[in-house]
Amino acid sequence: LKQTIKELKEEVLKRKEAEHKIMESLRKERELNDLKTKFLSLVSHEFKTPLSGILTSAMLVGKYTETEQQDKREKHLKTIQSKVKYLNNILNDFLSIERLESGKATYKFETFPLSKVVNEVIYSANMLLKEGQRINYPQNVDEIQVNFDEKILELSLTNLINNAIKYSPGHTVIDVEVIPKKDFLTIKIIDEGMGIPKKEQKYIFNRYFRAENALLDQGTGIGLNIVKSHLESLGGTITFESEEGVGSTFTITFPLKNI
Ligand code: ADP
Repeated sequence: LKQTIKELKEEVLKRKEAEHKIMESLRKERELNDLKTKFLSLVSHEFKTPLSGILTSAMLVGKYTETEQQDKREKHLKTIQSKVKYLNNILNDFLSIERLESGKATYKFETFPLSKVVNEVIYSANMLLKEGQRINYPQNVDEIQVNFDEKILELSLTNLINNAIKYSPGHTVIDVEVIPKKDFLTIKIIDEGMGIPKKEQKYIFNRYFRAENALLDQGTGIGLNIVKSHLESLGGTITFESEEGVGSTFTITFPLKNI
């Protein structure tokens, strides 16, 4: 009898363990599903507004056919351009996440003039400027050559300059400063915008995190997270200082030469 009881107890224990495992995998599956739903809703929400803007502008371009309506046509073409650019940036961020997660992020070091990337980023960013906003172009970039991953530098500057524009009101200045050191290059993006509330500053690099005061603007909370991941993988850093209602300064530093 003792033997039977022992066997029965073992059997119960085994079943409990099996049950626990099933419950655990069900819980994980549910969590994954929740995450998927959240992600899909984030993507659709992020795409919906710019897409409907593009549609409206495209329809109006088709409507303004008279010669004297050229100004209006150009305005709407600019809107289309900037919104497509915005969507393209989000897609690049999503692709980056996918590559970082799957361990497929590969980097390519090339020597190129810093001005090439700075020019491209500022040219695209100019399309997003609000009324009276302007970007102060750094004066000392022409002679600087960098040996770095060009795409990552472009992605980093695009995210930081676009944020500076998005989170600042019209009639403000965005300063881009370049500080070359012997082996490192520092770039600062300084804005006069809404700033980040002190109590939320520690979360700012968490994926999907968005500060309370930023929620009225469009955004995914992905940009800073991937910029930090990429830069740190390449021996660089990103830091910031910010005061609510005064402005923010984001600073990236990366090695000038990769040995
Ligand atoms: P997104 O801008 O898409 O929300 P980011 O990862 O680029 O995502 O930024 C995360 C959050 O950090 C933003 O939602 C915002 O709250 C805050 N933030 C980033 N840059 C700035 C800035 N220049 N000024 C104020 N807040 C900022």
